[in-house]
Amino acid sequence: MMLTVFDTLRGRLIPFKPIDEGKVRIYVCGPTVYDLPHIGHARTLIIFDMIARYLTYRGYQINYIVNITDIDDKIIARAQESHVVPKDLARKFERIFLDDMKTLNATLVDAYPRVSDNIPEIIKIILGLIEKGYAYQIDGDVYFDVTKSLSLGKLSNQSLDDVWVGARVKVDERKRNPADFALWKSSKKDEPFWESPFGKGRPGWHIECSAISMKYLSEQFDIHGGGRDLIFPHHENEIAQSEAYTGRIPVVRYWLHTGFLTIGGVKMSKSLGNFITVRDLLKEYDVNAFRLFITSTHYRSPIDYSEKGLKQSSRSLKRVFEALDNLRQGILVGDQGREDDKDERVTAEVKIIHQRFLKAMNTDFNTPEASSEFFKLIKLGNQAFSMKANTVLLQSIYDLIIELGGVFGLELERTHELTDEEKRLIAERDLARKNKEWKKADEIRQKLKETGIILKDYPRGTLWTVERK
Ligand SMILES: [Zn+2]
Repeated sequence: MMLTVFDTLRGRLIPFKPIDEGKVRIYVCGPTVYDLPHIGHARTLIIFDMIARYLTYRGYQINYIVNITDIDDKIIARAQESHVVPKDLARKFERIFLDDMKTLNATLVDAYPRVSDNIPEIIKIILGLIEKGYAYQIDGDVYFDVTKSLSLGKLSNQSLDDVWVGARVKVDERKRNPADFALWKSSKKDEPFWESPFGKGRPGWHIECSAISMKYLSEQFDIHGGGRDLIFPHHENEIAQSEAYTGRIPVVRYWLHTGFLTIGGVKMSKSLGNFITVRDLLKEYDVNAFRLFITSTHYRSPIDYSEKGLKQSSRSLKRVFEALDNLRQGILVGDQGREDDKDERVTAEVKIIHQRFLKAMNTDFNTPEASSEFFKLIKLGNQAFSMKANTVLLQSIYDLIIELGGVFGLELERTHELTDEEKRLIAERDLARKNKEWKKADEIRQKLKETGIILKDYPRGTLWTVERK
């Protein structure tokens, strides 16, 4: 089955074919580490984690890079406000970001290169751009001359004249054109700096992504991702720099952009102050519920955060766990040998659901449709359990739920390993039940419940699960 993806640059669905067969190189713009990550950032990173998971599931070998912007005006400003060294501030929020990525189960990133660790690579590209006449120096600053670029404006579909004049920043009289952007910024008093052929300073924002993607993924790679707010000017400028420096077109095969996460219809952002941090969200909700919530909307569409939406995802997640508990129980007590027409029908349905799931994911990662197939599988699992299907079938449904849930990045298997003490208590309780010492059995059950282990008794044995949010 052919995978198609929506390329922002060409503005349509394109069959996906990586540069090297069997390998996919992905670059996603990472955080500027000066504050706590909010769930708007998390959406983008969960989506690209899911994309990387699906490509892995399809058998591709992935090389996935996310950069860390650890030197930036915002970092310097925040550090000055809090009377700390910019580097210390950046390291602190980098650690928090990496912890959050782990908690979000967004674990497919191969490397998180820091800008500060790639200054020589950045300087080399700036020198090359000056040499080729794409960039010029003024008083220790270096600017990219936008009139030299052939493709500027293509990604955001804008003409230079219309949008670039005075865009975003106030016009600097020293620049050749108002839209020229900084590749290198000379350092002001008390600001961190690096030595360079242009003088003491630091890199501009856009050049870091060109330098880091080139170093880690080579001059041309497959997927470049980010939130849609990065299309202009960040990704436009990245294309201009990388094409000018390498002479290669295109530098990126597929540009993928995620829609905004809104709250009450307004984009969630640091500057608007309407944000919810990843940490606060995960105090209330299971990470699997959050991932199901993200999955419920297509990645290019806006998604509106609401407690109602998260509560609904939590209920859906509960249904998944209930079905898995049922299937486990069915496998434990079920009939290995039985197989009849009903089982055959269910087996055929499982296959159809799996196919439809793949078809949805193959169509520009249509997770809402894939998710609806996933929940059909949950329903079918419960049906197979109630009609006492044979254990091989129950096991195959169980395995497929884990497998497809894994594509969404859901961690559905028991992550808890029983401790020796817990094992001992469970065995002691089994014995108590055998001896009809119900009071003792209840006491042990209660004791385990306090540590988060839930026991369920069935005619042929006892199963345990962990308590969930
Ligand atoms: Zn970037």
